[in-house]
Amino acid sequence: MNADISSSRSTRDWQAADAAHFLHPFTDFQSLARKGARIITRGENVYLWDSDGHRIFDAMSGLWCVNVGYGQQALIDAAARQMQQLPFYNAFFQTATPPAIQLAELLAEVTPPQFQHVFFSGSGSEGNDTVVRMVRRYWDLLGQPERQVIVSRKNAYHGSTMAGASLGGMAAMHAQGGLPIPGIVHIEQPHWYQVGREMTPEAFGVHAAGWLEEKLLELGPEKVAAFIGEPVQGAGGVIVPPDSYWPEIQRICDKYGVLLVSDEVICGFGRTGHWFGCERFGSRPDLMTFAKGVTSGYVPLGGVMVGERIAKVLIEQGGEFEHGYTYSGHPVACVVGVENIRLIQQLKLVERVRDETGPRLAKLYASLRDHPLVGHAETCGLMGAIQLVKDKSDGTLFPSELEVGMVCRGHCFGNGLIMRAVGDRMIVAPPLVTTAEQIDELGRLIAMCLDKTWADVKANGWV
Ligand code: PMP
Repeated sequence: MNADISSSRSTRDWQAADAAHFLHPFTDFQSLARKGARIITRGENVYLWDSDGHRIFDAMSGLWCVNVGYGQQALIDAAARQMQQLPFYNAFFQTATPPAIQLAELLAEVTPPQFQHVFFSGSGSEGNDTVVRMVRRYWDLLGQPERQVIVSRKNAYHGSTMAGASLGGMAAMHAQGGLPIPGIVHIEQPHWYQVGREMTPEAFGVHAAGWLEEKLLELGPEKVAAFIGEPVQGAGGVIVPPDSYWPEIQRICDKYGVLLVSDEVICGFGRTGHWFGCERFGSRPDLMTFAKGVTSGYVPLGGVMVGERIAKVLIEQGGEFEHGYTYSGHPVACVVGVENIRLIQQLKLVERVRDETGPRLAKLYASLRDHPLVGHAETCGLMGAIQLVKDKSDGTLFPSELEVGMVCRGHCFGNGLIMRAVGDRMIVAPPLVTTAEQIDELGRLIAMCLDKTWADVKANGWV
């Protein structure tokens, strides 16, 4: 039997069927149907191939998740073995499967010491729904049911379910479907380049964390359950906070007894050159959401690491927690998680990002700052952002309707590179297996796409 269905039809055929039946996430359906989707058929290491045979450097790791790269046999074999032995069993009715127990144990080992327990979900969004239920339950059990409010940040991304999108601070998402749900408020993000340049990054970090304290005092801290944030805002545009930001957030949460939640869906499992982003930035979260990198995206899995402060109350005083998912602790997902974490350990990927490839990407980005289109370029581990600007002397942005970021993304697509555009911020998060030589290859591709975009910008008279 030929298992490869991708070559059974032409690209145009796939595109027509796609347009006829498949509604894609975060997509203008009509406009995509007009253009036709790009059909991706194969992956190996950091490269993808499309249905026309083009090779593409996947500098977004799928969607920030394929951290061990494509084609890792250990993950594939583990999934196949588990599917044969027991493809599914639930964890609801006094039952468990060995893979779920094993992954829970391994997560307790690789996460910071306050985490000894995990609640599994099927995705990051579901993990954040669990966070909302759990922090409110925690305060109820402690006899403080008025602690309901969760503080998040504008331009944050925490998922697409009702609670996930409410925690997120994306205005366009809130505009559809009556969001946010009650009890979730947002403060400004720590975006130094956009709003803080009259201060040093250090001073701005403390200043931006102060917005949390202001909000707590405005709401009444006794009404606030938790603060949630991504260590580095990913989907918002790889916005790296100043080093002073998270320690000050921690101090404020401690001062008012507010729980701290670190959304590690992107930053977890080595992306920042540390196992978890909170370790890179020096916070001690009470809860940690994860997904993506836990299985390198090979199968869907997410969850929440539950700190002992909370676990103790839920276990000793809680009774039944009325919450859970069919796929909480899915055995196939969990064996892949176990193999994936072992592979990260064996290949020393966290150390490699910290000591070798992360610094190399940082050096590359420092050199890009000289490009006439680049106002700012920054990295954190294997994440990078390039802010395209109209005038680099004062950081003036292009009018958004010119969609310069999309012009640049078009050149990337056309030249075998996947780099994402968030407005005019071009972002990458290549797989953690990317070698030093592949970082150099990425650098050449990015420089070429910036040059082509600059040529367009000049030809159109936009500068
Ligand atoms: N949190 C963060 C920080 C994310 O980046 C994402 C997804 N990009 C999510 C949550 C939601 O995860 P999922 O798409 O798996 O539901």
